[in-house]
Amino acid sequence: MSAFVDEYMAKLKAKNPNEPEFHQAAMEVAESLEVVIAKNPKYSDHKILERISEPERVIMFRVPWVDDKGEVQINRGFRIEMNSAIGPYKGGLRFHPTVYLGLLKFLAFEQVFKNSLTTLPMGGGKGGSDFDPKGKSDLEVMKFCQSFMTELCRHIGQFTDVPAGDIGVGGREIGFMFGQYKRVRNEFVGVLTGKGLNWGGSLIRPEATGYGAVYFAAEMLTTRGETLEGKTCLVSGSGNVAQYAIEKILDLGGKPVTCSDSGGYIFDEAGIDRDKLAFLLELKNVKRGRISEYADKFKSAVYTPVDKAKDFNPLWDHKAECAFPSATQNEINAKDAANLLKNGVYLVSEGSNMPTVPEGVNLFVDKGILYGPGKAANAGGVATSGLEMSQNSLRLSWTREEVDARLHGIMKAIHRQCVEASEAYGMKGNYVAGANIAGFVKVADSMLDQGLV
Ligand code: NAP
Repeated sequence: MSAFVDEYMAKLKAKNPNEPEFHQAAMEVAESLEVVIAKNPKYSDHKILERISEPERVIMFRVPWVDDKGEVQINRGFRIEMNSAIGPYKGGLRFHPTVYLGLLKFLAFEQVFKNSLTTLPMGGGKGGSDFDPKGKSDLEVMKFCQSFMTELCRHIGQFTDVPAGDIGVGGREIGFMFGQYKRVRNEFVGVLTGKGLNWGGSLIRPEATGYGAVYFAAEMLTTRGETLEGKTCLVSGSGNVAQYAIEKILDLGGKPVTCSDSGGYIFDEAGIDRDKLAFLLELKNVKRGRISEYADKFKSAVYTPVDKAKDFNPLWDHKAECAFPSATQNEINAKDAANLLKNGVYLVSEGSNMPTVPEGVNLFVDKGILYGPGKAANAGGVATSGLEMSQNSLRLSWTREEVDARLHGIMKAIHRQCVEASEAYGMKGNYVAGANIAGFVKVADSMLDQGLV
């Protein structure tokens, strides 16, 4: 570690103890920016990196609700309003038992750079709760969402902060929260994205993150004169991002062979085709079942439950050319990264946020594979949320083809920015550096323009 990164990280860790994910995200960015800050003393003179790592505002609150047995439950709610230099705060809400302040700070920090890359005017934020929607009835989920929004609605607004979904927050949860916002504030506005089509949602928003990660992969492949046609693809997760990554891989002629949930994964050597994908969507979005049921239904698939004693994830240990991690943070450890390379994977496009540990990232970058980090590769979701905000402001709805074409154009633009920024600083082919630098410069220059706020 250089003296610059060392000093920055020592201060950040002292100020934000016990937040390892936030430290990890900040360190990666600082390492990429060292050369930019050395060349542009205005950024260090104005302490831009230190300011960008400090949330503009953190909101933390109690969420009381009553479960189906009549028992009182207490969860904790959060919203991190990280940076509004280029637009209103924007970023998802995560409902998962692992949610705590440090996890959301990492996600909000990443979101600032990601949103900047989208070319749209959106600042960065993130929020959520340690509430676990899994195993809860629809009524319990509604009661929780209403209680959560009763407090959150004081802090958000169409021109202030516009949350969206993330892990554990899909169309059902956005609906319950939107209903409660409207009831309390008595206004029908685009305060959330990922809304239903009948009440202000955008076509292609559900598909956007997964589609975007695959569009980004296709762009990376074009730099080598290749396409996805015929390539075997490993996908993790089976939620929103994974489902539509699989669909777009099929559209572009690839062969997805895996997907997972927190219980285990399936390997389907024959490939997950459109009929099997339809089953998966019904299983996960309607029945809310487990991925093991896929292997019960399709005999070509083998189900492997999670084995906590293993120091690697066998999902990443199959022969393939491409990988699309789409479950959660740090799901590819150093051994998994080595297994991917050993098995012939030379493209990784991250649908999930920070799925690869730093040792894995270094391995991918050192080997010179096509490695698209989450803040670039999965930016299609928030970009399409930005398009949903535009449609709400215009009071118009664009067609599926129009939104998809804009999403595709944005993913190409993000890819181009990464390539140009990495080349400008002598790190050709390094998408990690490219994404961090391009994302940073726009926000940093806007902060300089707006004075010390
Ligand atoms: P989702 O619909 O809730 O699906 C998450 C999937 O990952 C589920 O299959 C879940 O399995 C699995 N998973 C979650 N936590 C896990 C853990 N700790 N260990 C193993 N598996 C786990 O969420 P999503 O929207 O697809 O989000 C997936 C990733 O993409 C996250 O990193 C998110 O931040 C990122 N992302 C999402 C969007 C978006 O628009 N939704 C945009 C950008 C980035 P279980 O059901 O068993 O928990």
